Amino acid sequence: MSHISLLTSIDSTGHIHLIIGSNPLAAARCAKSLEVGAKPLLIAPDTVELHYALQKRIDNGEVVWLKKPFEDEDVLRLGREEINGVVDAVFVTSGPRDPLSAHISLLCRRNRIPVNVSDASSLCTFSLLSTHTDGPLQIGVTTNGRGCKLSSRIRREIASCLPPNLGAACARLGTIRQRIQEEDHLTHMALSGDLDDEDSIDQTSTFNKLVTEADLDAAKNRRIRWLSQICEYWPLRRLANITDADVESVLKLSASNPSTSATPDTTNLDSRTEKKGRIILAGSGPGHPDLLTRATHKAILTADIILADKLVPSGVLDLIPRRTPVHIARKFPGNAELAQEELLSLGLAGLKAGKTVLRLKQGDPYIYGRGGEEFEFFRREGYGDVVSVLPGITSALSAPLFAGIPATQRGVSDQVLICTGTGRKGKPTVPPEYVDTRTVVFLMALHRITGLVADLTSWESEDAKVLDGSVEVDRSRRLWPKKTPCAVVERASCPDQRVIRTTLEFVGAAIEEEGSRPPGLLVLGNACEVLNKPDKGRKWVVEEGFKGFGDFEGMGLEFVLGGKEERDRV
Ligand code: SAH
Repeated sequence: MSHISLLTSIDSTGHIHLIIGSNPLAAARCAKSLEVGAKPLLIAPDTVELHYALQKRIDNGEVVWLKKPFEDEDVLRLGREEINGVVDAVFVTSGPRDPLSAHISLLCRRNRIPVNVSDASSLCTFSLLSTHTDGPLQIGVTTNGRGCKLSSRIRREIASCLPPNLGAACARLGTIRQRIQEEDHLTHMALSGDLDDEDSIDQTSTFNKLVTEADLDAAKNRRIRWLSQICEYWPLRRLANITDADVESVLKLSASNPSTSATPDTTNLDSRTEKKGRIILAGSGPGHPDLLTRATHKAILTADIILADKLVPSGVLDLIPRRTPVHIARKFPGNAELAQEELLSLGLAGLKAGKTVLRLKQGDPYIYGRGGEEFEFFRREGYGDVVSVLPGITSALSAPLFAGIPATQRGVSDQVLICTGTGRKGKPTVPPEYVDTRTVVFLMALHRITGLVADLTSWESEDAKVLDGSVEVDRSRRLWPKKTPCAVVERASCPDQRVIRTTLEFVGAAIEEEGSRPPGLLVLGNACEVLNKPDKGRKWVVEEGFKGFGDFEGMGLEFVLGGKEERDRV
């Protein structure tokens, strides 16, 4: 039967590791113990010939060699005083055939001492992972006894995908985090969704919870919130190369006077030039870089300066030439307006300096991307004739597709409505009326899913009351049945895409339980069940991963054409 293990990391500083044996493996174990700050005690009779590496460590005092055969009491008396002499871990290196191995294994188990016997998983209570270490960053791989060569190969492959300097960046980010925490007297990171338990892969469902700029408590935690967002959204390559200027920009986000942070550094943009600047507002698609248009790709390669939204996918940012300056909007809950002002003034400064400025947005610039406002801004500033707008594939229509949901389908859905779950200043929006042949896509809605569901399924939910004191509750509005199918689609087209298929009744509970993986949206309507029939008896189903675009390489042209003909006939 297959099992998986509880992976943990153990602070072994000062621990006593008993290493039994004298072969090269014993040398390797000693080296590992020393690496993690433990004290290795080697037990081997002095008749044996020691591996030379081991002998060297003994000679220079790193390893203590107890020249004697193993005795049962050793595990209970050679350890740290503070734990009554019990050793912290035992490594037996002589392999499964040595009868002593089984004996020591049993002895340790009885005394609750972690024991590892080389090449004998059944005699181990723990095993060592194949590890990649880079500064404070450690990555461990196990195949749970299916082969250490394989683990090591997988570990190498994973490590080779990481950008250089990531370890140093982790150290740096950790220091910044600690400094901010100390300065802000934060005792816990729960607020920013950054829990200490690294097992929480996904964010809590409130990670992107709305925080208004007037929120006093919010002001205090601005920097830590921005730091969390950087760690969540910036491409790893960018994080790995975090600069002094980046660090300054996080630290300088003032808690008491937010406006000081909105003054962008434009010192390197020469405003005296005569050359006429250009500004391109472009959409970068939902996530996967293959979903960029050629026009936007060209703009990325030729711009003098790029001003990107926080949500611009990392695969797209990776296409930016190394020398092009990039500014990523410091947008986090509570800082939307300031981040926007900051980008606009940077754009203006670039234009004045005669630069080609690319304002890169996620999805399509005119679908909840404030693209229209930005166009107006630059026109007002006298640059209307040098603004161009390039479309992008919107997540609103592509995320359903990647989740296997045809937004329209003959006989099921004849209209699609795109709306937002969050209105201006964070107020709830007027919920759309139920139409049984309608597919509704809600962007920016998952952080208030419970309120949204209540608005859709009842006339007088809590949120409806907040809407605007003056608005009469419209009782003629048709309500959505709770059994209406819906799907939460997160990080559509990214490798960590996730789809949760459920109904209005359970979607709130599903998000609460599964956490959130922003950005994500909600698709509502019978179209959700056209290609994926519901799993009877299950409240929700979670699907992980992005299937990609299919690999047409190597397929005969005939096949592709055949497929197309088939589609055309339907
Ligand atoms: N202009 C963008 C939308 C910006 S609003 C577009 O056309 O796609 C931001 C919202 O878009 C997020 O809150 C989320 O609801 C949605 N979104 C963006 N990218 C997404 C993705 N890859 N998967 C799912 N939802 C996404």
